[in-house]
This record gives sequence, structure tokens and C-alpha cells, in this order.
Amino acid sequence: MRSVLDSLTPHNLAVAAALYGGFVLFLFVASMVVPGQRLEGVPLADGTRKQYRLNGLWLYLLTVAVLAAAQYFKWFSLSIVVKYYWPLLAVANVFAFTLTAILYFQGRRAGVELRGNPIVDAFYGTELNPTWLGVDLKMFAYRPSLIGLGVINWAFAAAQYEALGALTTRMWFYQIVYFLYLTNYFQFEYGMIYTWDIIAENFGWMLVWGDYVLVPFFYSIPAWYLLGYTESLETWKLVALGALWLCGFILFRGTNEQKHQYKANPQVKIWGKPAEALGGKLLVSGFWGIGRKLNYTGELMVYTAWTLTTGFQSIVPYILPIWLAVLFTHRAWRDEQRCSAKYGDLWQAYRARAKFRMIPFLY
Ligand code: NDP
Repeated sequence: MRSVLDSLTPHNLAVAAALYGGFVLFLFVASMVVPGQRLEGVPLADGTRKQYRLNGLWLYLLTVAVLAAAQYFKWFSLSIVVKYYWPLLAVANVFAFTLTAILYFQGRRAGVELRGNPIVDAFYGTELNPTWLGVDLKMFAYRPSLIGLGVINWAFAAAQYEALGALTTRMWFYQIVYFLYLTNYFQFEYGMIYTWDIIAENFGWMLVWGDYVLVPFFYSIPAWYLLGYTESLETWKLVALGALWLCGFILFRGTNEQKHQYKANPQVKIWGKPAEALGGKLLVSGFWGIGRKLNYTGELMVYTAWTLTTGFQSIVPYILPIWLAVLFTHRAWRDEQRCSAKYGDLWQAYRARAKFRMIPFLY
């Protein structure tokens, strides 16, 4: 704890602020100027639809290219992120709290309906879709969040390479599967438009802090544990982890894609047959006929697989999959409350058809 506090010197905080501010600014400007497919969001309360520019994949690849070039030509080393980890975390928190306050006052000035308690309003947010210079802030936040997560992961790899002269098998495995996961996320960025956060949640501290602090700094903890962990990993364990990751990935991506494809075209074929939906609304084909939240199950498997690369030296990296399991259980419950209110008897019929939430025959 003392070394953490000692690292928060004015000099280190200034370097961290320059790194963090530069990174967010780079992504924000790039979000404005880099071309991308334009897509309409779901209808809003007033019947209009918001336009989104989906250039996240280009931003992600641009960041990868710039950092890879910087590393290769020795302009700077990404391990600087590891060196300034605590100051960066402090700066990210200051940023998230400041942004929350600005958004709160912006909503108040716009005259939106408030809950009345400023802390609750700041926590849940005052506006559904705050927008600056044409950039939707809620959709944008996924970029510093997930690209930031990638950058911190890669920084731990760079630091290991500098310390050991090579990457361990565990680190290779972790980096490859995480890279595939993040690339795939941006490849299917359009799917975010139909998620609950984008459709229904205001942009307040809960999402701001989650995107700018929690995801990049907390989700990368396994990489930190891999940094100095040189014990080799037997081939059979590597194969087993790869299989767990791949099955989870197919489940998570397959489930989400089936729903997106059905919503875009109700006549779509799923597993070779025309999609079947209760009341023409609730999909019961494919994974959605087996469980109501198998996308959560698949994502949990993916996170568990890469956390297992850290072995059993510490419980700390496992806090992430455990926390996700709690988050998903709570989220599934909240979402089902919402669906039950929205679909009424149809939702009960769906529950009778797809009996399980996340684990067939168990839960
Ligand atoms: P879902 O993608 O499951 O979306 C839920 C919504 O889908 C419901 O509110 C309902 O909305 C619709 N729906 C539910 N069942 C059906 C059905 N049978 N047929 C048609 N529509 C249905 O949940 P999330 O938005 O929470 O999650 C999206 C992805 O994001 C998941 O893969 C999840 O794992 C991931 N995620 C990851 C997190 C992380 O930290 N890594 C955190 C949170 C989510 P309606 O009918 O109104 O459209």
C-alpha cells in the first residue's frame, strides 16, 4: 500500500494524465474522423432513431498498428503503462468522477426529469444518449474501455518480454485469446446497439466508471499475475484451456448472433431451419430454445479459460470470473423482470419452453 501511495507523486501523476488524456483524446478525435458504417439505433421514446458511426474496429486496429510500430521501432515501450499503473488508475478515477459530474450538470441544464437525489441521479445518469461533437458518449465509452483493456494487457506482455527476453506459453495463450475476443467484439460492434445498456440505461457513474476504470484496470488483472509467472504449462492443460475458451466463445458469439440476425430478419434460418419465435417476438430456435441467457454462460467460460492460465498461485485473478458470475446472475434477474413486464404471458410461455437460464438442468 505504501509503495502505491509513494508512486502517486506529482511527476508520475502528470505523466499518467498526459498518457491517459492523450489516449482518450486520440480515440475521441479518431471516432469523429475515421469513416465507418452508419447504423440507426432502436426507436427512442419520441419515435426518432439515433445514428451511430461504427468505426470501432478501425480505431482498434489503428491503435494496434501505432503501438506495434512504436514498440518495433523503439519509439517508446508499452511497459510504461505497467510502470505508471497506479498513477494511471488514479487519473482514470479522476477522469470518471469529473465526467460523471459534467454529465449530471449537463442533464440538469437540459431540464431532463430527475429522481431528486443528486447522488442517485449522478449514479444512474441523467440523460440516455449524451452526445458531444456528434459522438454518442455512451457508445464511445466502449472504445477507451476495451481498447484500454487491450493496451494494459499488451503492456504486461511488453514488460515480460523486457524482463525475460521472451513471452511464456501462458502469456502467449492469454494474449492470443484475449486479442481474438477484443477483435471479435469490434467486428460485431453493431450488436452493442441492441444491448440493454445502450437501449435502456442512462449514462451516469455506473456506466462511466465501469467503462473507464473497472473494465481496463480490473479485467486485465490476470495479465499482471502472468508477468512474473514462469512455470511452464503442460500441453494437455493448454489444449484443455483452448477447448474451454473455444466452446465458450462459440456459445457466447453464436447466441448473440442468432438474436441479432433474427431481429434484423425474422425469416432467417437458424441451425438450418426457419427461425421459430413465440408470438413472432421471442426466439426459441437455436441456443435461445435451450436457455434464456446462454450468452452469459459462454462469456463466463471465456473469462474462466484465460484466468486459469494464472494457475492457482492466488485467488486474486479469480475475483474477475467470480465477480462476472455475480454480475450476470443479477443482470439476468433484472433483465427477466424487464422482459416479464414487457411481454407478460408471452414471457411466461417462453420460460416454460426454455426452462433454464444459464446452465441447462441446473440453473
Ligand atoms: P442480451 O443480449 O441477452 O439482451 C437481453 C434482451 O434481449 C432482453 O431484454 C430482450 O430485449 C431480448 N430478448 C431476451 N430473450 C429473447 C428471445 N428469446 N428472443 C428475442 N429477444 C430476446 O443481454 P445483455 O444486453 O445484458 O448482454 C449482451 C452481451 O454483452 C452478452 O453476451 C453479455 O455476455 C455481454 N456483457 C458483457 C459484460 C462484461 O463485462 N464482459 C457485461 C454485460 C454484458 P427486447 O426484446 O426488448 O429487445
